[in-house]
Amino acid sequence: METTRALILVLGDQLDRDALVLRESDASTDRIVMAEVDAEIRAFPNHKQRVALFLSSMRHFADDMRDAGWAVTYQSAGDADGSTLLPDFLARMIEEYAPSEVRVTTPGRYELGEAFEKVCTDAGVALRWFEDTHFLSTRQEFAQWAKGRKALTLEYFYREMRKKHGILLDGKKPVGGSWNYDKENRESFGKGGPQDVPEPIEFALEQTEHTRAVIDLIASRYADLPGELEQLYWPVTVEQAQQCMEDFFVTRIEKFGPVQDAMWTGEPWLFHSRLSTALNMKLLDPRDVVARAVDAYESGAAPLNSVEGFIRQILGWREFIRGVYWLKMPAYIDENSLEAEEALPPLFWDGKTEMRCLSDVVGQLLTYGYAHHIQRLMVAGLFTLMYGANPREVHDWFMAYYVDSVEWVTLPNVVGMSQHADGGVVGTKPYIATGKYVQRQSNYCSECRYNPAKATGDKACPFTTLYWNFLDRHHERFADHHRMALQVRNLERKSAEQIEAIRERAREVREMAGRGEL
Ligand code: FAD
Ligand code: SF4
Repeated sequence: METTRALILVLGDQLDRDALVLRESDASTDRIVMAEVDAEIRAFPNHKQRVALFLSSMRHFADDMRDAGWAVTYQSAGDADGSTLLPDFLARMIEEYAPSEVRVTTPGRYELGEAFEKVCTDAGVALRWFEDTHFLSTRQEFAQWAKGRKALTLEYFYREMRKKHGILLDGKKPVGGSWNYDKENRESFGKGGPQDVPEPIEFALEQTEHTRAVIDLIASRYADLPGELEQLYWPVTVEQAQQCMEDFFVTRIEKFGPVQDAMWTGEPWLFHSRLSTALNMKLLDPRDVVARAVDAYESGAAPLNSVEGFIRQILGWREFIRGVYWLKMPAYIDENSLEAEEALPPLFWDGKTEMRCLSDVVGQLLTYGYAHHIQRLMVAGLFTLMYGANPREVHDWFMAYYVDSVEWVTLPNVVGMSQHADGGVVGTKPYIATGKYVQRQSNYCSECRYNPAKATGDKACPFTTLYWNFLDRHHERFADHHRMALQVRNLERKSAEQIEAIRERAREVREMAGRGEL
């Protein structure tokens, strides 16, 4: 009789073919169990692209594992008797296979860890956690680095990571003499717009059999979910992910740096890598991506400012954000230091607004499930922050609409970096700006009915109104903040009548947004 020694539970964002849990297990006696569950698919109003991406990638992973000799039990969302919650599925698997032990790689969502602990305790089975070796730093290393520091500054963490992993170093010094080339990476496109943007490889990717099946499944069972899904734009296999990586390093890395903060109507991809989904699902190893970036610099294919800027995102920001998540959870998810309680306006779900920047970003999201960093931070996130939207609602929207969302990465980016709801853990000050920032970095404003220079009146840009209103509402809190002094002083120069007019327009903006008429 076949006996199962250990059950290895693999989650949708744990598709690492070289995971530690697999290396330490035995294909001849241990069993992999995986599930597509309704509760996960419907945890948020998830974008169809996101659901398809996860399901198709999971099915490919299961195939690869079977080919490698593993026993795999896979519950599909279409199975009539399927469990609807992941912990229920685990409990059922324990009952079915009576394993001596359950093994799981640390999940990217805190609450799952607790839920699995409970299932195993109730069933009287040992649960063994495995470190997620995909990452370049461990949770313990980050906690050690953070210990005793007044502020967690990305720049210092990043430098240590560069030294620890020997990336772009000249002896002990940074290659080129500087750790950071951000100053060279703030260009916009100018009137002519972006030139020679390469066609994205995703459109050429063949849809696999699993992808086609999943698209059919979503059409029949999850048609009510938001977003478009005639074609899946994201890699679902290791081979496809590698193709996408190669495509980026051949066609876009060179220009990545200088225009990484720029935006343009109808140009969702520009020179970004679009590798976040493959990285977050563990189809790509960040070590390989960083090594390939170094290679692009050393071979002369890309300049240092582009390569360093790109490496900082992966070796720096990505690891830093994960460290913050584990350091601050479970309390972090409820942070709301600015006491922001407004409901998220409907335009975030349907894209129906006369604000050109937001209609472009949400429209692009509905098609692809993707917006690049500055669209997330300085359009969607900027608006919700200044509007005073509840950070949990904002987080849930980011989780639902972005193909690359997983709680460990989405939460600190939203609650910390973008909404400043953590009171200054991820960023020391809130990222706030008037519509003029958007105007400088894009062509959105030239096609918009609103005017970024105006804070009051019918034509006032809602970003500009809400910027002054934010400073006014939080005047006391930021009056002595050394990094916001200039902004606060500028507010203080306004007359009482101007402030009142801004308050009045901000009220109108919120009412119009709430009615879906902004
Ligand atoms: P590129 O611009 O090509 O950057 C390269 C890689 O660097 C990315 O693939 C990503 O892996 C990494 N990276 C860059 N910035 C960050 C960051 N701040 N945190 C973590 N990794 C980073 N990223 C996600 O992966 N999932 C999310 O759910 C997510 N939500 C975000 C929400 C907000 C409000 C903000 C401001 C940022 C968010 N990010 C998130 C970070 C970043 O915007 C995306 O990683 C990036 O836009 C993905 O597109 P890309 O692969 O083309 O990135
Ligand atoms: Fe956005 Fe304001 Fe510019 Fe319109 S004017 S595109 S609302 S920033």
